[in-house]
Amino acid sequence: MAKKKVATKAEREHMSKVASLGCWVCQRPANVHHIRPIGLGIGLKSSHYDTIPLCYDHHQGQFSIHNCKQQFEDMYGKETNILQEVKKRVADMEQANDLFNFYNTHKGEI
Ligand SMILES: [Zn+2]
Ligand SMILES: [Zn+2]
Repeated sequence: MAKKKVATKAEREHMSKVASLGCWVCQRPANVHHIRPIGLGIGLKSSHYDTIPLCYDHHQGQFSIHNCKQQFEDMYGKETNILQEVKKRVADMEQANDLFNFYNTHKGEI
C-alpha cells in the first residue's frame, strides 16, 4: 500500500459520496478503492478524489481489482475509465443535492 495521507473533510465527503454509489460492478455496499496514478508527474500523487466504489469481493476478493487486475479490467473496463464515470456520477449527485438544497431554502419564496 502507498503511504496514507490524512483525508481532509472535503475529501472524506467525496469518498463517502463515491461509496454511496455502491459497488461499480454489482451495486452491493462498497468501500472506496484508490486509483494509482499512472506516470507520476510533478505534484501528482494518489488522491482521495481518485477513488472508485467496490465491494469487498470486487476490491480484495479472489477476482478483484487488487488480485486480478488484468481480468478485472478486461471484464469491467480500465480503472481510469471507471474513475471518469464515477466522477461524473458524483458531480451529478452534487448538482441534484444543490438543487434540492436550493428548493428547501427557498421553499416559501417560490
Ligand atoms: Zn461488487
Ligand atoms: Zn484498493
